[in-house]
Amino acid sequence: MTTATWATNEADYFDYARTLVEGATVLDEVVPARAPWSGIVRAGQVLTLVDVGGNQSGDCLVFNAADTRERYSVPDTLAWQGNAYVHTGTVLRSNEARALMTVVGNEVARQDTIGGACSKESNTLRYGYHTYFHHACRENFLYEASKYGMGARDLVSNLNWFMNVPVEDDGTLGIVDGISGPGKRVALRAEMDVLVLVSNCPQINNPCNDFNPTPLRVIVVTPDDPASLGHPVPTAPAIAG
Ligand SMILES: [Zn+2]
Repeated sequence: MTTATWATNEADYFDYARTLVEGATVLDEVVPARAPWSGIVRAGQVLTLVDVGGNQSGDCLVFNAADTRERYSVPDTLAWQGNAYVHTGTVLRSNEARALMTVVGNEVARQDTIGGACSKESNTLRYGYHTYFHHACRENFLYEASKYGMGARDLVSNLNWFMNVPVEDDGTLGIVDGISGPGKRVALRAEMDVLVLVSNCPQINNPCNDFNPTPLRVIVVTPDDPASLGHPVPTAPAIAG
């Protein structure tokens, strides 16, 4: 008789990994599946996000901590680098084209900032009214933003760490099976004091979370050797509209 082997507890398939950049720990927290998170990352500190269970989308917004009217901008970020994907060296730019954070380490071939965030409204349109009551990223963002006096009009287009949105030859976008895995990480250096909001995506109606939401780990360090991180911020855009 053969016996099927199944993962019997999370330790069998979760990898909490550790910081991608060595340094003195400022903050180290686990974001449970489906939950929101927020925190301040000071200029020069490095935030590592860990995809603990693999293929778990970490929807993310970044604000200038001193003035949240300055916030992450998808077109500024993509036009300045002249590429549709977020990868090592990508500078996350604000609506004033200033550098908020820089990707200084990345273990996934490409990271997304085009696919947007799920909401109960979009779930209803895409998957039917019975999904209206599913928890969604927009609700996570609103909950977390409210702690800083922000509301719906402060939510802009976001980043999706560990989500796979390939751009095909003809420009077609897909939200397809992920290319991340347990323990994969991305590391972001703050270029100014920033407020980071994360929605650990609760979506279960498409493959963006492998139909199985899992935890994320967030670690902030003051790097031991800042000069070794490289990736200085470019001073001119690749594309100007
Ligand atoms: Zn989502």
